[in-house]
Formats: sequence, structure tokens, C-alpha cells
Amino acid sequence: MRYLDKSALGQHEDWYGNNAAVCCTSCGKVFIVSAVLHRKGRSCPACGLCTATITKSQVAITDPTDQDAG
Ligand SMILES: [Zn+2]
Repeated sequence: MRYLDKSALGQHEDWYGNNAAVCCTSCGKVFIVSAVLHRKGRSCPACGLCTATITKSQVAITDPTDQDAG
């Protein structure tokens, strides 16, 4: 699990209000996750392996190696 740092967004990351763009940790695809549309997070549309979840306070990216972390 990794988290976006709002003050230090990566080259392929963005975060504005209820929406964030994240970079898949498995395949590198950049995709958007919305706190409104994706309340339970959104899987990568390209590989489906990693899941991004956005809340009011954080954006988290979970990849398959994190399964045990819940
Ligand atoms: Zn992917």
C-alpha cells in the first residue's frame, strides 16, 4: 500500500478535490479514481491488479503484493 502525498505528487499523479489520478503500480497505467463514483475504490482498467481508493484525507494505492495488509 502506498499513499499519494498531496504536497509532493509524482509525475504521473494528480489529486484535486474528490478526484485523483494515480499510476498503477503493476502496469504503469494512469487512471482516475473518484470519491463520488468509486466509493469502494477502483481497480486499474488496464490490468485490474492494483486498486486505488480515495477518501477525504488520503489516496491509497493497493497492489497484489499487499493482499495480506487488507
Ligand atoms: Zn495496471
